[in-house]
Amino acid sequence: MNAAMTEWPLLSVEGLGIEFRTRRGVARVLDDVGFTVARGETLAVVGESGCGKSVTALAIMRLIPQPPGRIASGRLMFDGRDLLALPEPEMRQVRGNRIAMIFQEPMTSLNPAFTVGDQIAESLRLHQGLNRKQALERAVEMLGAVHIAAPRRRVHEYPHQFSGGMRQRVMIALALACQPDLLIADEPTTALDVTVQAQIFDLIAELRETSATQQGTAVMLITHDMGAVAEMADRVVVMYAGRVVETGSAVEILESPQHPYTRGLIACAPGRRTAVPGQPLEEIPGTVHSLLERGMGCMFAERCTSAMPHCSSVLPPMTMLGSSRSVQCWLHVEGGPA
Ligand code: SF4
Repeated sequence: MNAAMTEWPLLSVEGLGIEFRTRRGVARVLDDVGFTVARGETLAVVGESGCGKSVTALAIMRLIPQPPGRIASGRLMFDGRDLLALPEPEMRQVRGNRIAMIFQEPMTSLNPAFTVGDQIAESLRLHQGLNRKQALERAVEMLGAVHIAAPRRRVHEYPHQFSGGMRQRVMIALALACQPDLLIADEPTTALDVTVQAQIFDLIAELRETSATQQGTAVMLITHDMGAVAEMADRVVVMYAGRVVETGSAVEILESPQHPYTRGLIACAPGRRTAVPGQPLEEIPGTVHSLLERGMGCMFAERCTSAMPHCSSVLPPMTMLGSSRSVQCWLHVEGGPA
């Protein structure tokens, strides 16, 4: 363990609040979100659609469109520097180089007009200062690393010449080419069929294992697939309606969820991936509370079978259940509200 590993986490999201102006008013899509990512670990961020997972990822990449978005509060400390305070030229050096992201649909990130080799090489030339020949050679290596057959030939092909699963592999090669400290994978398999989903998760796990020992690359996996969480994650952050409601190790969260929402997520999950690979969550009864009217209390109160009278009027504090385990629920606050 080097000195930097003991000084601070790789990423520390602190009190992050984000608002979006809509025609119906201001929606607070993230409210006081906080968590850390250590070097080399895989952190899963889980929750239903619209709970704030992807907005959190976009905020870390500083890709929130402003307006209509607005960072209302918080800091994003990455390797000791606040990303929110970096001038844009410095942020461009971080984005794609030290923090890389893969999206659900790789065509949103791949340019159809350039060969995949040129796109990987361009990133390497821009961020790592390689010349064209070196960069193309590294692009071939990266395609091989993500198990694309005949990489020396395929490096000259265009994105449309690859299948959906292969495009996602190219995207992973592009994301990892610069050996980032943090890889953010936002629902990386949602658009793929079940067999390919499993292969992509296996690939990320394989590359993460290699890179965690060689470079300390951390993975922030945004997913609703609890099977992927069981297989890949070291720790889990559970989000609901723009707030973190529970954190813990993957084993703690999966074996002994403490927040009623986390329990619902796990109860609705179709079992581990070995049972039904990649299948999304069933629904928890009820709908997510409107982010336009957050109210004063627990946002899950309307759907919670354990709700008490004070739950919808007073926000529970975050209660520490261990050194890295926390839950935001009145069931874990002795004596209830003061
Ligand atoms: Fe349910 Fe109350 Fe806990 Fe919210 S605070 S999850 S409503 S018990």
